[in-house]
Amino acid sequence: MGKNEFLKEQFGVSQEILDMIDAAEESVLREFKRVEDIAQLNEMKVMKAFADNRVGAEYFNPTSGYGTDDMGRDMLDKIYAQIFEAEDALVRHNFISGTHTLSTMLFAVSRPGDLVVAITGKPYDTLEEVVGITGEAGRGSLKDFGIDYMQVDLLPDSSPDYDAIKKVLTEKKVKAVWIQRSKGYGERKTFSASEIGEMIRFVKEISPETLALVDNCYGEFVDEKEPTAYGADLCGGSLIKNAGGGIAPTGGYIAGKAKYIELCAYRLSTVGIGRENGATHGLNKQLYQGLFFAPHVVSQALKTAILCAAVYEKLGFLVEPSSKEVRHDIIQSIKLKSGDALKAFCEGIQKGSPVDAYVTPIPSYMPGYADEVIMAAGAFNQGSSIELSADGPMRPPYMVYMQGGVTYESAKLGIIMSVKAMKDKGVI
Ligand SMILES: *Cc1c(COP(=O)(O)O)cnc(C)c1O
Repeated sequence: MGKNEFLKEQFGVSQEILDMIDAAEESVLREFKRVEDIAQLNEMKVMKAFADNRVGAEYFNPTSGYGTDDMGRDMLDKIYAQIFEAEDALVRHNFISGTHTLSTMLFAVSRPGDLVVAITGKPYDTLEEVVGITGEAGRGSLKDFGIDYMQVDLLPDSSPDYDAIKKVLTEKKVKAVWIQRSKGYGERKTFSASEIGEMIRFVKEISPETLALVDNCYGEFVDEKEPTAYGADLCGGSLIKNAGGGIAPTGGYIAGKAKYIELCAYRLSTVGIGRENGATHGLNKQLYQGLFFAPHVVSQALKTAILCAAVYEKLGFLVEPSSKEVRHDIIQSIKLKSGDALKAFCEGIQKGSPVDAYVTPIPSYMPGYADEVIMAAGAFNQGSSIELSADGPMRPPYMVYMQGGVTYESAKLGIIMSVKAMKDKGVI
């Protein structure tokens, strides 16, 4: 029995849908090749860093208590630094999420009276309370500590507003600029690592002492280089997204200039102790293995996103990026235009998950988000979005953001089932 016969018999997918999926896949083989080439390059960087740093089984031994002299932990920092072309890095399971990692970066370098300026528009939803533009006063946001925040919105064509950025940098003393690589829940383009490099060059030319901090979530291993290779002082992200390769069970990383990495370590643990303590409980192996898998897994997620774009283009939806565009993160957004379509899409994606394939996602409140959010996810690591997942806030224009897929074969089922669910519900 061929794959399409199996899909028809066991999943009830019509021949019409299967023909459409096959045609969509056929149309993006060239894009798949490009993704595979970048994965090959990034995997070579990982292999070189492992070999140069003499990775051996002893690095996977668990430590407990203070975790002083945890070799595997300290070496993983060096390995990340090499791959990210940075002076140093801090890779820890103790970062509970991307938001925690990015919050650590912000608090590490800011002091009372400083000004932080977001130059790529509003930061990711969960960072609003961190900087203090939403949420109750008195909880310890940047604002509570007397650290000012400003943002320069992107121009209508998604490019940075260089005139406005120049104005702020000349009129005020800016401690750090905040650059978000991925679109997050916004309707804009994602920036490439080299475009971020251009922003950094622009900022430093006007104000050399201003730091460039990059939210690199979802961007790792998508381009040939990372923002640190283009001069970012710090860049960070979550290990249950790209850099953890679907294997790291939790955690985050920060890469960048040594003296700021040091400050991040003081902020994560305590001033004085910094990076010298921190038991790893036997998680090192998963963090190493996740990094080893990451370039390939990112390529699988990218192929999933490209197929999704090709399929929904054929169905007449507005997709971003398009199937033919060069990508800079793993996110695919689709403007679904109605709540029913958004729900059907997520129901279909859920059916393509290895875990909880039988459940029906429903919109609900999520801590840190202003609107109700619907999320489809059936991941081995809870909330992991390098594993196939889709989510979107229940507000017009009902954008869905789909990402992940640790194997193309499994994630493709999610795409197929999303089309089936939309057809069954009569929204397409
Ligand atoms: C996911 C994400 C975050 C936050 O990461 P969490 O792990 O969900 O806290 C921040 N910024 C961007 C652009 C993201 O995609």
